[in-house]
Amino acid sequence: MQQPISIVIHGGAGTILKSDMTVELEAAYSSGLESALSKGYSILENGGTSIDAVRAAITMLEDHILFNAGRGSVFTKKGVQEMDAAIMDGATLKAGSIAGVRNVRNPIELAYEVMTNSNHVFLSGKGANDFAIKRGLKLEPDEYFFSQFRYDQWKEIRDSDTYSLDHTHQDIAELMKDKKFGTVGAVALDKQGNIAAATSTGGMTNKKYGRIGDSPIIGAGTYANNKTCGISCTGHGEPFIRAVAAHDVNAIMEYKGYSLQDAMNEVVHHKLINLKGEGGMIGVDAAGNTAMVFNSAGMYRAMKNSKGEQKIGFYKEA
Ligand code: ASP
Repeated sequence: MQQPISIVIHGGAGTILKSDMTVELEAAYSSGLESALSKGYSILENGGTSIDAVRAAITMLEDHILFNAGRGSVFTKKGVQEMDAAIMDGATLKAGSIAGVRNVRNPIELAYEVMTNSNHVFLSGKGANDFAIKRGLKLEPDEYFFSQFRYDQWKEIRDSDTYSLDHTHQDIAELMKDKKFGTVGAVALDKQGNIAAATSTGGMTNKKYGRIGDSPIIGAGTYANNKTCGISCTGHGEPFIRAVAAHDVNAIMEYKGYSLQDAMNEVVHHKLINLKGEGGMIGVDAAGNTAMVFNSAGMYRAMKNSKGEQKIGFYKEA
């Protein structure tokens, strides 16, 4: 039997409601997700690695202004973009992460450089920026990252304390209502049977004090292990960190023998709910099964596999 291949991607979770969408915006999200999905899938189809497939898919989403990663990232309290990203190779359990990075055009490429060309796993702030320069990564001026949509979202809350870590649940609800999330993620299984996962984000609007979410934290927002699955998360990062959400799916599969879908349901619909953790995750297992699970109103998501299945969705399925 031929080794199956699969790719699944997300463009963030949150209060994504059909009633808030225009036909144009829906079309723009669809085309952004579809291009990234096909790019990643064509790499897998041509015998490329899952690492290259997730890098390519994420790079396209980072370059797309609608998603909160790379270009179009959200504004911090200080009115700049500080980006986080991670990538993990399920074959070797090697990983690379970066946090609080500015002006790097493709943060996922910097995470990849950390994984492949440093002795480290996680670099942050100025040091990570210095490493980007050393590795010759493409930098862009602040204006490149600007989007009116994210600026307007920030303007509404920049004078408040909403999003700080001492917010009330009311604040979180408000933040979710305004659908501030738009992180991107990709997980793939290649013809060699290797799984890779990657996540990239601008984090949460109005974040301060160098706040870092779950996305670049290995085991929280991103995880891959050939034995079990690859996972990329999106949502309110703090509960995902406390739940060690991505690794938890792997652990339930490894130690309890759960299927990918059941393990993801357990973490998203029970563990995260108990921590008031709103959001979702995507995953691929070693057999090429994919799952896209969320407890928020919606999640931008898409999948494609060698069985000929292809899906794209934004909202809860009826
Ligand atoms: N999880 C990300 C964070 O907390 C946000 C997102 O998924 O959009 O930084």
